[in-house]
Amino acid sequence: MTMLNTLVAVCLAYAVFLFAVAFAAERVALRGQVRWLRSPAVYTLSLSIYCTAWTFYGAVGSAVRTGFEYLTIYLGPSLVLVGWWWILRKLVRIGRSQRITSVADLISSRYGKSNLLAVGVTILAVVGTTPYIALQLQSVTLSFEVFSAEDLAPGEEKGHTALWVAAGLALFTVIFGTRNLDANERHNGVVMAIAVEAVVKLAALLAVGVFVVWGLGGGLSATLARIDASALGRWEIDGGRWAGLMLLSAAAFLCLPRIFQVLVVENDHETHLRTASWAFPLYLGLMSLFVVPIAVIGLDLMPAGSNPDLFVLTLPLSQGQDGLAVLSFLGGFSSATSMVIVAAIALSTMVSNHVVMPLWLRLAEPGAKVSGDVRSVVLLARRLSIIGVVMLGYLYYRLSGGGEALATIGLVSFVGMAQVLPAMLGGIFWRGASKLGAFTGLTLGFGCWGYTLFLPSFGAGVFLPEPWVTGGPFGLGWLRPQALFGIEGLDPLLHAFFWSMTLNTGGFILASLASFPQPLERLQGAQFVNVFEHSPSPRSWTGGVAQTEDLMIMAQRILGARDAQALFEREARRQGARGPLPEPTPDFLEMLERELAGSVGAATAHAMVGQIVGGMSVSVEDLMAVADETAQMMEYSARLEAQSQELARTAGQLREVNAKLTRLSVQKDAFLSQISHELRTPMTSIRAFSEILRDTDGLSAGQQTKYASIIHDEAIRLTRLLDDLLDLSVLENGQVNLNLREGVLAHVLDRAAAAAAADDAGARLLIRRDPVAERVRLHTDLDRLSQVFINLIANARKYCDAAQPRLDIRVTPGVPLIIDFIDNGSGISPEAQDMIFEKFSRVSDQKAGGAGLGLAICRQIVTRLGGEIAYLPGQGGAAFRVVLPADLALAAQ
Ligand code: ADP
Repeated sequence: MTMLNTLVAVCLAYAVFLFAVAFAAERVALRGQVRWLRSPAVYTLSLSIYCTAWTFYGAVGSAVRTGFEYLTIYLGPSLVLVGWWWILRKLVRIGRSQRITSVADLISSRYGKSNLLAVGVTILAVVGTTPYIALQLQSVTLSFEVFSAEDLAPGEEKGHTALWVAAGLALFTVIFGTRNLDANERHNGVVMAIAVEAVVKLAALLAVGVFVVWGLGGGLSATLARIDASALGRWEIDGGRWAGLMLLSAAAFLCLPRIFQVLVVENDHETHLRTASWAFPLYLGLMSLFVVPIAVIGLDLMPAGSNPDLFVLTLPLSQGQDGLAVLSFLGGFSSATSMVIVAAIALSTMVSNHVVMPLWLRLAEPGAKVSGDVRSVVLLARRLSIIGVVMLGYLYYRLSGGGEALATIGLVSFVGMAQVLPAMLGGIFWRGASKLGAFTGLTLGFGCWGYTLFLPSFGAGVFLPEPWVTGGPFGLGWLRPQALFGIEGLDPLLHAFFWSMTLNTGGFILASLASFPQPLERLQGAQFVNVFEHSPSPRSWTGGVAQTEDLMIMAQRILGARDAQALFEREARRQGARGPLPEPTPDFLEMLERELAGSVGAATAHAMVGQIVGGMSVSVEDLMAVADETAQMMEYSARLEAQSQELARTAGQLREVNAKLTRLSVQKDAFLSQISHELRTPMTSIRAFSEILRDTDGLSAGQQTKYASIIHDEAIRLTRLLDDLLDLSVLENGQVNLNLREGVLAHVLDRAAAAAAADDAGARLLIRRDPVAERVRLHTDLDRLSQVFINLIANARKYCDAAQPRLDIRVTPGVPLIIDFIDNGSGISPEAQDMIFEKFSRVSDQKAGGAGLGLAICRQIVTRLGGEIAYLPGQGGAAFRVVLPADLALAAQ
């Protein structure tokens, strides 16, 4: 009991210590002293989350079962790191310049920001990682049980330990994993804690190793001799399996979400890779150094049947080395917890970014999408996702019962995550890789993995029916999950790895070749593949005065010198800085971005600040957003321009109307004097002749008749003038009643010609007509129409100044009906053409002229009849066109 209590106390103390380390690291980072927090050593140590509890404890077990094969799991990643110049450097550069937040983000960004792909990879990651988290919980529980074996009935503590550990891990991750949302911000606290854990687990394993070799094995040479003598000493290397496992672990190293998190997302500087390229293989080497001795001596010393997976712990314990055993326990505990913490961060980023947020944005009301809100929703989503991911692992652990199935799940999930590899490598090395390709490859690979490895791993009959496994589905032998296409005898793991990767890569390449990438995909493809040409070697993220100065210059350009200065000084005062320039802290940058966004738009502001602070290239997303904003501004200015053009047009129209009004007003004045003249002339003569008639006696009968007829004529002239004025006012006020009747155009014209001729005794005008065309039936107000014709014919009589005046009346039957009146006079000058239809308008002072009302009346009448009348230029003489509508009857109503 005391041992267990001590262990619990040590565990709690260790947890408190880790919290303290993380807190301290965050504090230090806040103060901006991040130098040593971001050293290459810390980066390298953080990569050690690759060594989970599964490798910490399990490597010995694996050595017992399969000899040196466990080395492959270390060799794969070592190869990747040694060849960092080729793949890792590119991945890290892309991650920085494109602000990549996870594997899912990388794949979706590369293939045209496809959310479908992101969701797919996220699901893959969750499915692949959950069993692995369960495995970590199981190892902590198992190791705990080793200590409690004497004190408790087996299984009693099991559930609680796992639950407590899971809850503690969730808490830790929520506190330190969601401090900031920016992909370019490291989780300083988490990374530091993990680096410390890396040291603890290495130290623990080395300590156990040293104890085993020198304390139990009797020194180096004696131990080597023992190894030689043991079964492990016989180096039986299955070349295919070795190559396969190495390839698999290398692939997994690149694709596992948690490794991607520390390798790419948390990477602070590209050159850290240079250090890690030798230091991490060295770390792995040290981790594997004592595996074989522990296995061999464990086999010798431990009672038969004891679990070799726990030799690291049970060996010291059985020798009474409680302190060492506790250290070893802490090593395993560190391995498990660091894996869960980083995996939870990585997965929660994916889940919240690619599943929760898109859903929320779609469902939330549009008004709620202001940035402050989004930020808090993202934080909440991320925290809930962390808890969800950890609890899912716990649930899996409970449901699976934590047996043998879990022990093999490590490699199973490796194969699952490795499915991302073709899309990832293709995406960064091959511009032709397309979304459809990535989608096809992932679907095929993932499907094949599920069918050949994941589902069978639960045992035949659990998810896959027994006969399917042995005889193939529906009796199709070549579809047996563990012997696809009849290839038998392969190790199930390698079989699944081989087939899933083959189908995946094949599908990826073929579908990429067959499909046509969309514009955004092409752009992203170019950005990814040619990342070294696009982005300058990144500067360190560390802020400095030089950057603040650049920021200041930029802000001055946008906000104006005074405002920018005030902003910076205020911030400097707030930070308590000595000079006028503040440190470019994240808070300040965010605030600056907001200020700038007010003037240039959020995306542009983000890109500009990012350019200066991050030294990163602007991502395509930024460019698109900037283009969007620019487009909006252009649209706005285009609208303004259109408005001002409209205004200019209106002003032009107004000017024209004004000019016309002025001309009309001049004409009206002229008319008034004209009309008073017109009125006075007949009045004067009427008065004069009526006085003569009254006052003069002895007028001859002939004289009397003459004077009386003059009075009569003048009275008629007066009456006509008044009639015209009256008629026009009636027409203009719309008080006319149309008298619609059936008739023939020829008759109407006959009547009009006769009436016009009666007006003028001279009758010199020759009228030419077209009797055939005139045989058109009409249904309209025939009297009004003939009034129009009379006017037009009379005008020709009055104004046609040709020696032999002639009027052609041409009829174009059809719809609409066109009647042209063309004389052979000198016509009407262009500038007068649009005036003649106005009332009171007269072109010249022809003696014969009326008051300028005739054409105005004509236009009113024709309009009432639903037609049009206009001057027809270019006909030699004066020409008028009357157009009558198709359905006169209708139009007249
Ligand atoms: P009025 O009642 O004075 O004849 P109108 O409105 O009928 O006035 O015609 C307006 C002016 O158009 C006339 O003063 C005349 O100068 C010109 N005009 C009309 N018809 C002709 C034509 N056939 N030839 C030349 N000028 C014409």
